[in-house]
Amino acid sequence: MENRWNDDEAARFPTALGQRAYTSRLQGADPSLVLHGGGNTSVKVTEPNVFDSDEEILYVKGSGWDLATIEAAGFAPCRMDHLLRLAQLDRLSDTDMARELQVSLKRPGAPAPSVEAILHAILPHQFVDHTHADVIVTLTNTIHGERLVREVFDADEMIVVPYVMPGFKLVRAVAALLETQTTPRTIGLILMNHGIFTFGPTAKMSYDRMIEAVAKAEAFLEARGAGRLGEPKPQESTSRESLRGLPTLRRALSAAAGFPMIVSSHVDEQALSFVRRSDLETISQQGPATPDHVIRTKRLPMLGATAASVASYADAYRTYFADQAAALPGPLTMLDPAPRVALDPELGLITIGRTAGDAAIAEDIYRHTIEVITRAEALGGYRALPTADLFDMEYWDLEQAKLKRQGAPRMFAGEITLVTGAASGIGKACVASLLARGAAVVGIDLDPAICDLHRRRDYLGLACDVTDADAVDRALESAVRTFGGLDMLILNAGVFPAGSPIAQLASAEWSRVLQVNLDANLVLMRLAHPLLKQAPRGGRVVVMGSKNVPAPGPGASAYSASKAALTQLARVAALEWGADGIRVNILHPNAVFDTGIWSEDVLQQRAANYGLTVEQYKTNNVLRVEVTSRDVAELAAEMCGPLFSKTTGAQLPVDGGNERVI
Ligand code: ZN
Repeated sequence: MENRWNDDEAARFPTALGQRAYTSRLQGADPSLVLHGGGNTSVKVTEPNVFDSDEEILYVKGSGWDLATIEAAGFAPCRMDHLLRLAQLDRLSDTDMARELQVSLKRPGAPAPSVEAILHAILPHQFVDHTHADVIVTLTNTIHGERLVREVFDADEMIVVPYVMPGFKLVRAVAALLETQTTPRTIGLILMNHGIFTFGPTAKMSYDRMIEAVAKAEAFLEARGAGRLGEPKPQESTSRESLRGLPTLRRALSAAAGFPMIVSSHVDEQALSFVRRSDLETISQQGPATPDHVIRTKRLPMLGATAASVASYADAYRTYFADQAAALPGPLTMLDPAPRVALDPELGLITIGRTAGDAAIAEDIYRHTIEVITRAEALGGYRALPTADLFDMEYWDLEQAKLKRQGAPRMFAGEITLVTGAASGIGKACVASLLARGAAVVGIDLDPAICDLHRRRDYLGLACDVTDADAVDRALESAVRTFGGLDMLILNAGVFPAGSPIAQLASAEWSRVLQVNLDANLVLMRLAHPLLKQAPRGGRVVVMGSKNVPAPGPGASAYSASKAALTQLARVAALEWGADGIRVNILHPNAVFDTGIWSEDVLQQRAANYGLTVEQYKTNNVLRVEVTSRDVAELAAEMCGPLFSKTTGAQLPVDGGNERVI
């Protein structure tokens, strides 16, 4: 356990709130302490108010902020006297508590205070830190958890809090324990099946205590033969055979959920050795390491990766919901019954989400869960919370409200697009338009810059020559492994050769143009067809044709012929694939000058040829407008969307109006 405190760094943050933000980031930087919005921290500060009297304010982590990146502005300023009066109440519903936390704010527009704000307020000391440290959760999630915690920590230093759901009930439970168990040496709390609090008079002391406590637990686990698993080794390759099952699995998952989902397969050594354990059925079917994970991973992972396993998982989920909801007052709305994690001996750890980001969060969390379960098993047996407690968290009012605040999903949430020629020009703009509509995007291009075009979890860039069928096949495999299938295909890659009259056109040049602009697209369409067929909402293909199809130009025979043949290919595909629910449409852009091939020099030359200025040349169309890559890309994206859901085989110009086309 590394103590990341650095005197020079820390000196840059002289105020109490600055120090608070600094050590919060130190904890956020360690995923074994804090994962994805988990954990929270606070500081109590006395400051003057508008009446010129001093007021004690609790600055507590605001929701929507992550400890890894939190700034002073990410802390919600709550009036301490209000929080302390709330803490005295016998009863307060969590919905009322959330409202009262808002009421306590000193500044309107501040982020919503953490639901653990009142707990922070009643804890002694100026600085309070709270994490869900893996090793603490490992210790407490064992059959003899409380006994082990007592072995590691002195009773007069750490107060042990039996599991209570976070919220007002936890405040009351902790308040009672503080009254009877606090000693002059008390430095924190261990919350069974949840995590750890430490506190101190300075940010450094509270942080040091967190690190020391976690290090102590770590040493204990090591000594008991329950050491760390180590970093996952790089991805092994999954057999083609099993990868082929992934789009079918995705289709079944999406049907169960009622919306398309991203499905990622991870087959590194750590994942495989867990999913191939002989006791997997017992150890994996107990519950998450901390109850808040239930929102991200559901209570249980699915075993297996077939449509049949999805059906039985969804049935079991419905039964779980019906049984648990019956025991509670008030109506509850069932969440979708699809799993978020699946374990399969061939496909390894499979994570599932409405977006690639959600699937990635489920992956991060489950990797920690694997670590916690494996180490707890070595300690004598993993034991998660009872089902009812996990259900309470999954259907907690405050969590439900959080989900609602996320709003409606974006147009292509859960869907996957492959764009060719995606490193520049229209292709690059298509990637941006599709990402902006929530799709996960696989960009392929000859230019290796494609790999780093975007650094985000819903983007995969692959350097690939579209005329190399094996390379294209591998690219599709990567798309399937990373996101689970393919819904949309944007055929954009193409070459635009220098003009040459037919009388002088070399056969090799003719062949080269047809190979890239036509043959490569045939191969990709053929390979993508089985995937597009499995798309939960039906596959979509958009083909970049050209104005040259309806209105060819002299000197562009190879280019015009290749695009005309490609258009015809697309029209035949529209006929053949309609029965599979796949729509194929064609765009005919013209004079898109913001692409790599049109340098300022070339533009000036061309314009001069026609006796025009560059500006006149760029807008030389009926509407006198400039057509940009973005204009074409936005239309391509919309052609995949609901506006065009009844349209296939269509050809649409994007050219500002061309007299010869009209
Ligand atoms: Zn917590």
